[in-house]
Amino acid sequence: MTEFDDTPEAKPSDDAIAPLIRLFHVYKRYGAKTALADISVDIAEKEFVFISGHSGAGKSTLLKMTYLGEPVSQGQVVVDGLNLARLSRDRIPLLRRKFGIIFQDYKLIPTRTVYDNIALVVEAVGTRGNLIDKRVKSLLRSVGMEDRQKSYPPGLSGGEQQRVAVARAMAGNPKIILADEPTGSLDHDAAEMIFDLLKKFHAHGATVIIATHDTELIRNTGGRVIILKQGCVETDTVIPKLR
Ligand code: ADP
Repeated sequence: MTEFDDTPEAKPSDDAIAPLIRLFHVYKRYGAKTALADISVDIAEKEFVFISGHSGAGKSTLLKMTYLGEPVSQGQVVVDGLNLARLSRDRIPLLRRKFGIIFQDYKLIPTRTVYDNIALVVEAVGTRGNLIDKRVKSLLRSVGMEDRQKSYPPGLSGGEQQRVAVARAMAGNPKIILADEPTGSLDHDAAEMIFDLLKKFHAHGATVIIATHDTELIRNTGGRVIILKQGCVETDTVIPKLR
């Protein structure tokens, strides 16, 4: 059985290549509150996409719909051939392995070293023996944190913690990087460094989706920007890079 056995009902229309992620008339309701209303968005493999809009517009909720952080109330989500409505519980890890997720508040384990925070994920994806050490060091090197491997997260600056979180998100070689306000707690220089890392991983072939209301960083980077307003797609455009 392959992961392509889940034939999506959200038909790939007449596209030559099916999108990596398809949200098809998606609604998400929390009680009487509608967080997402009739969202239809396709994201192709290797795209770099910003989800923007004011606080409360539905950015985090939209990201959660893609990795089954929460189920949709109505509509369909298809990720890399998996129709999430039909995904059995035992296949959820198959979906989650496709994602590396970065949060505004880092979510590192404070009582474990930087090294261990990464090693736990490297081991969890099946790496064995001395390959674990090699992989952890290579990941830390890629985010410029190899000198801090013995530190504990509370002893690091916000920018350093987020660099470790980026390395951890990459540890399983995910196809898709989701970042939910990744620079929301950082100063300008640290934020730029995180953006540069995300761009680097994109250049290496990952699909990157960033929820942010940091319009300056969006303008500096350019690319596809989906703006949400009150749970709906207000605009979905490509903006030029400023510099
Ligand atoms: P954003 O990420 O753009 O700030 P969110 O996706 O977090 O927006 O939230 C969209 C809307 O859904 C907001 O009105 C928020 O209050 C509401 N919401 C989000 N999560 C929940 C929840 N677990 N329970 C109730 N309401 C929620």
